[in-house]
Amino acid sequence: MPATPPKALTIAGSDSGGGAGLQADLRTFFACGVHGMTAVTAVTVQNSLGVTGYAEIPPETVAAQIEAVATDIGVDAAKTGMLASAAIIEAVADACDRVHIGRTIPFVVDPVAASMHGNQLLRDDALDALRTELFPRATLVTPNLDEVRLLTGIEVRSHDDQRKAAEALLEFGSKWVLVKGGHLWDDPGCLDVLYDGSEFIELPGPRYDVKHTHGSGDTLASAITSRLARGEDVPTAVRFGKEFIVKSVAAAYPLGGGVGPVSPLW
Ligand code: PLP
Repeated sequence: MPATPPKALTIAGSDSGGGAGLQADLRTFFACGVHGMTAVTAVTVQNSLGVTGYAEIPPETVAAQIEAVATDIGVDAAKTGMLASAAIIEAVADACDRVHIGRTIPFVVDPVAASMHGNQLLRDDALDALRTELFPRATLVTPNLDEVRLLTGIEVRSHDDQRKAAEALLEFGSKWVLVKGGHLWDDPGCLDVLYDGSEFIELPGPRYDVKHTHGSGDTLASAITSRLARGEDVPTAVRFGKEFIVKSVAAAYPLGGGVGPVSPLW
C-alpha cells in the first residue's frame, strides 16, 4: 500500500478563478508531494479581473473544519491565507490552540490583506486581531510590503528598511519573519529578508518583468508549509520556497482578460 504523504492544512479563502487562495495552496501542496486539506474562511467571487465580492464562512464552521481534520487525519504543518474578519481570526486562534497548531505543529501566517487589484480581503478591524491573536502563535509570518505598512506603519524603500520592518514585526511574537521584497519595484532584483531575532538571512532572486503573478504569495507560503510538514527547519524550508516561487513565476500563464496565475508545474 502506498505510504501516506505529509499532511498540510490551509486556512484560507476560495478564489473562484482558481488562481490564488486555497486553490493555489492545494495545487502547491500537491506539487510538493504533500496531502492538502482546507478550512475555508470565505468564498470570493473572483476572476482574472479582480474580486467583486465575497461571503464569509461562520467562524464556528471555520474552527470546526480545523478540528475535524486535525483530530482524524492529523496536521503536520498549517498555513493561513485570507481570514476576512476579527471573529474568524479569533476562532482560528482558539481552534489552533486546541489541536496544537502553532505549538508543536509549524504554523505559517500569511497576513493577506488585499488582492493585487487592490480589493480588500480583510476588514479594517481585523489587523489588530492578526497582530495579537495569530502572530504570537506563528512559526513564521510572510508579509509583503503593503502588509508591512498596514501592520507596522513602516514604508519600506530599501533593504535596510526591510530589516527594520522585520525587527518591528518580530515584536508581535512570531518565531520568524519573512519580509518579501517583491513590491520594492525599484529593486532590479527581488530580495526577501528572513529574521528570527539573531541573524538576517538574505534570499536574493531575479525580478521577472511579467504581468501574470496572481497567487504568488499563496504559492510561496504553501511551498514553505509543505517543507515544514516534512520536518525541515525554517531557513531550509524558506530557501526551498524561494526557489519554488521563482520557477512558478517563470511558469505563470495568461488567463482571462486580466492577470493570470503563477504555476507550480514546470
Ligand atoms: N483571493 C484570495 C482568496 C486570496 O487568498 C488571495 C491572496 O492570498 C488573493 C485573492 C489575492 O492574490 P493576488 O494578490 O496574488 O492577486
